[in-house]
Formats: sequence, C-alpha cells, structure tokens
Amino acid sequence: MAELDPEMLRREMTGWRRDLHAHPEFGFEEKRTAAFVAAKLREFGLDDVTEGVGGTGVVGTLKRGSGNRAVALRADMDALRIAEQSTASYRSGNPGLMHACGHDGHTAMLLGAAKRLAAEGGFDGTVRFIFQPAEEWGRGALAMLDDGLMRRFPFDEIFGLHNMPGLPIGHFETRAGPIMSAEDIFEIVLSGLGGHAARPHSGNETLVAACALVTNLQTIVSRRLSPADISVVSVTELITDGTRNALPGLARILGDARSFRPEVSAGIERQMRIIAEGTAAAYNVTAEVNYSREFVPLCNDAELVDAAFAAARDVFEPGNIAVAAEPMTASEDFARFLDHVPGCFVFLGNGEASAPLHNSSYDFNDEGLLFGANFHVAIARRRLGV
Ligand SMILES: [Zn+2]
Ligand SMILES: [Zn+2]
Repeated sequence: MAELDPEMLRREMTGWRRDLHAHPEFGFEEKRTAAFVAAKLREFGLDDVTEGVGGTGVVGTLKRGSGNRAVALRADMDALRIAEQSTASYRSGNPGLMHACGHDGHTAMLLGAAKRLAAEGGFDGTVRFIFQPAEEWGRGALAMLDDGLMRRFPFDEIFGLHNMPGLPIGHFETRAGPIMSAEDIFEIVLSGLGGHAARPHSGNETLVAACALVTNLQTIVSRRLSPADISVVSVTELITDGTRNALPGLARILGDARSFRPEVSAGIERQMRIIAEGTAAAYNVTAEVNYSREFVPLCNDAELVDAAFAAARDVFEPGNIAVAAEPMTASEDFARFLDHVPGCFVFLGNGEASAPLHNSSYDFNDEGLLFGANFHVAIARRRLGV
C-alpha cells in the first residue's frame, strides 16, 4: 500500500493537536476528545472502534494478515485544572483547564500512527490503539482494566510515550527496569487542645508539634531508607484551625511520597507511623496517619526496551537515541497495564526551550508529532513483523 506523505500527515496532526489543545477536558470528562478520537479512527477505516471503555476511554482495533499476536499502543487524553498563560490562537477555550502535560500531543501522535498503519499496513497481526482517560489522577487505566479491557481487547504487550521538556526535538530516551515512580499520598491529623495564644501551657496546641513532625519526616529518606533506593517524602500542606490569638487544637499535614519498589513504599509508611506517633506523644497530642497508594512504579520490560531502541533507530538519528540516565520520580498511570502484560514506556524530546510539564506556560511542541507517530508505527511493525 502507498505510504502517506509525511509532510501532509504532520500538518494534519498539527491541526488535530491544536483542536484538542483548544478544548481541554478533565479526567473522565473527555467526552468531546473521545468523540473526536473515535470519529478519526472510524474515518481511517479501523476494524473496530469501541467508545466508553472505562468511562471515556476509546479502543481502536486494526487487523492485518493472519498473525495471532496483538500489540497495544497507548495515549492519554486528559487535561489539568491549570489556567493557561498563552497568546496562541489555539489556547484553551475552557477557563481553568489546559493541556499542560502534552496529552493533546500524545493523542494526535497515536491518531497519526493509526492513520498510517491503516493506510499502509506493513504488519501481520492486531494493533490495539488505546486512548485512556484520567491519567493525571491515576484512575483511567484501572477504569479501562476494570471494564474488561484485557478480556474484550486482548493484547500481548503495550507501548506508550511521553514528551519530555528539556530533551531536544527528535531525541529519544528510555531505560530497562524502573523508569517512573510510585506515588503515595498521606495525611497526618494531629489532635490536641487549642486555646488562648497567651496561655499555651493551659492546653495542648498542635502547631509546634506539626512543625516538629514536618522536620522529623525528613529523616525517613535520609536515615531510615537505603541510600541505594531512590525515594522522596514531601510535605505539601499544613493546615490548622488556629487563628489570631487562638492556638490550634487541630493540624493537618498533607504530602506525597515517591519510590520505585513496593518494599520502599511500605518502609516509608511504617516509618511515618512511628515518627508521627512518637512526635505527637512528645507534644502531648495524638496523631492519625492516613496513607494511600495512588500510582504504582513503572518498570520497563528489558526485551521490549531492546525492541523500542531498535524501532527508535528506524525513526531517530543514531546520535539522538539514549539510555535515560536515571529513573524519574514522577508517576505514570501506564504502569497499571504492566500488571497484566509486559510493556515499555519511552520519552521523546519536547525541545530545550519547552516550559516544564504542568506549568501554565507549557505547550506541546508540534515539531515532535511526526517522531511520535513514526515511533508507534515502527514498534508495531517490529513486534508484528511480516
Ligand atoms: Zn501530567
Ligand atoms: Zn502526562
């Protein structure tokens, strides 16, 4: 079959990406985005397009030849509750929402790959195009899996990508093993007896205890976990019911912890409970710790990483392909699929001038679209070789 003109595909993907960018939708509310994706996939002539998988998820299926293996390619569709700072003609038209993580670009790249694979073929087997909702709050992949994704649309392995600010356009990175971290969140509630600011000794106020606890929590990573294990414990909020001239009887400490192994996550929780109870006791208040696991660590399969590097050599200049130096302590919902099949997640450059992800000035760089679409095509063809 005839190859699509890359320049035309690039222009088309740019149009889709900017349309999606102008209409950002929050996780599980990606109704317009999902309808846009499904309409395109049908237009490309896929064998099946199913909407409403796990809420607003879309799965497209493309079969060629007689091969019985299936490879899944995944993109995420959701935006963030951030007010965009942009003068671009395609800036967000939904106040307070923006594509600040480039999921508009990921969606456009996977649509481009679907268009190419549908038009050109070049593989033997089944490609599943998975457009997942609600990546940002770590619920979308599970929602699709809970809705029978593996049973209804079975596949043997899965690939995904994320744009990377700071990495030049046309550059590719991944690594075997852990590449993105687990995310745990915690809340510690200190309860005491508030009272008059002028008479602290007559109660058991919680603010000084909370300040000590915030400091003591810093010893979990530095003194209780192995230096060989990468981990982070960050307190992000301290809220009390105190006011001018009244000491608080209640203090809430909220935060976020990252790690790459379940044993480390368990160690953080265990130490947090010991330190919270011990610190609270030292200040005559009580502590209640609520600890929950939001994202699991993302571990790339070694064999599929080799395959991803081979596919990257079909698309990127040899000097622009690198082994990522270290795992990232950010988290990715893609990891949930890897509880079911092996997979590989890769990073593509979004340019050195790019604002950081989740920044109100961030924008996906359209110069990267063709690289992403072509990588998807290359990996599908390599894994479903004719
Ligand atoms: Zn994000
Ligand atoms: Zn993202």
